[in-house]
Amino acid sequence: MSDNSYTRVTFFSGENVPLEMHKARMVQRIHLISAQERLSVLTQTGNNTFLLPNRDVFLDMLTDSGVNAMSEVQYAAMLMADDSYAGSETFYRLEKTIQDFFGTQFFLPAHQGRACENILASSYVTAETPTVITNYHFTTTKAHILLRGGQVLEAISDAGLSTQSDLPFKGDYDLDKLDALVRGAGGPGKIAFARIEAGTNLIGGQPVSLGNMREVSAYCRKNGLLLVFDASLLADNLYFIKTREEECRRRSLTEIVREIASLMDVIYFSGRKLGCARGGGICTSNRKEYMRMRDLVPLYEGFLTYGGMSVREMEAMAVGIRETLDIHNISQTPLFVEALGQELQAKGVPVVTPFGGLGCHVDASRFIPQVPQEQYPAAALCSAIYLVSGVRGMERGTLSESRNPDGSEHLSNMELVRLAVPKRVFTHSQLKFAADRIGWLHENRDLIGGLAFEDEPRTLRFFLGRLKPIGDWQRRLVEKFVQDMPSGL
Ligand SMILES: *Cc1c(COP(=O)(O)O)cnc(C)c1O
Repeated sequence: MSDNSYTRVTFFSGENVPLEMHKARMVQRIHLISAQERLSVLTQTGNNTFLLPNRDVFLDMLTDSGVNAMSEVQYAAMLMADDSYAGSETFYRLEKTIQDFFGTQFFLPAHQGRACENILASSYVTAETPTVITNYHFTTTKAHILLRGGQVLEAISDAGLSTQSDLPFKGDYDLDKLDALVRGAGGPGKIAFARIEAGTNLIGGQPVSLGNMREVSAYCRKNGLLLVFDASLLADNLYFIKTREEECRRRSLTEIVREIASLMDVIYFSGRKLGCARGGGICTSNRKEYMRMRDLVPLYEGFLTYGGMSVREMEAMAVGIRETLDIHNISQTPLFVEALGQELQAKGVPVVTPFGGLGCHVDASRFIPQVPQEQYPAAALCSAIYLVSGVRGMERGTLSESRNPDGSEHLSNMELVRLAVPKRVFTHSQLKFAADRIGWLHENRDLIGGLAFEDEPRTLRFFLGRLKPIGDWQRRLVEKFVQDMPSGL
């Protein structure tokens, strides 16, 4: 069946069940420890789900980064890898795959997405051009731009910042905002680059439409702005373009990707997401931009034919990128996110709508309005979810922001707990379990309190920071849980 005629498989009963279009032939045992044990682990790990050891996690929904299930073809390709420092066949296969996929000419390999961001920020963010404009920032992107003395401005549509909506493309740029920001920053001559992030991560994996990409590209070309595309979450975004954008229903995925790429000057991606492997890279057809970045690859990453990746990673990435053109591959995360979202909604849990890619996003501001933003409601909810389910989510709210230069908190636009749904990893019953426990938590939400820092790193504090509960709400929450669920599981 060609992807031009994609139709979603539905149940005769009308029940919305996401159907796996693969079978599992290798599995990993996971463990569900009791709520009392989880409380002790959480206390030892500073209430930070990044610091939890996997052995104490039941469903690891922290991220989709580097944890998507790989295909048998990817594993097979890893055995064929040609290992050499310079000029390996593996690199040429990857380069050719990327050229075919995006239609771009040049490819610079890097060890992961943020390494590409380091190269981009080092090449373009200067004292004369300090400003980057984006639909919405991503944590590592922003950190690299700030590190170079730059600033990040956001031109996301108003809808993008509302957690409840039925607009299909909440990641879209607002063109008027873009123009106002460019003028406010001192004109196009002051802008390092404009950036479009596919599958806009921090607002809930929300897609950008092809129509909007065309408009932003036309604006940038007219005003002489370099346009950079973060394709890390392109797979989900591609599925939404294909299924939500009328004119794309009859177009092939290859055609759509090629058109997207033709609108951009530079494309980069995290291979931990795009291609379900590891690594990353930067692509462009513009020789001048290629030359501007090229020499930083051997400096920071490794020689031009591996860029910090192992040859096995490169082989897996090449196959994974080709598999992105299979609609039944890229549909899996969006369909499972939707199923989890609907389960949660049915239990009254506030979630970000419409459902996006990447994961299901629980809205902590509405779940626990009693916890002020200065007490990190999303982080508090994230810790409470772990206590009652063993599910590891990720805070995406004020804790993930950096403090203002004067030391005050930079309050986030949204307080979200992301429950990532890595591709092909979890079954439907596991998602129902997560929804069941979070439903229990919602009924007992009055018991949840805030968190305070015990140890706060200066940069990207959410990765390694340690926090403690304000008061003894976690102990009381676990007591109530054990009353209702005497097994403690
Ligand atoms: C994960 C991610 C990155 C960074 O990639 P890493 O491989 O984790 O360094 C950049 N942009 C977006 C949108 C991402 O989701």
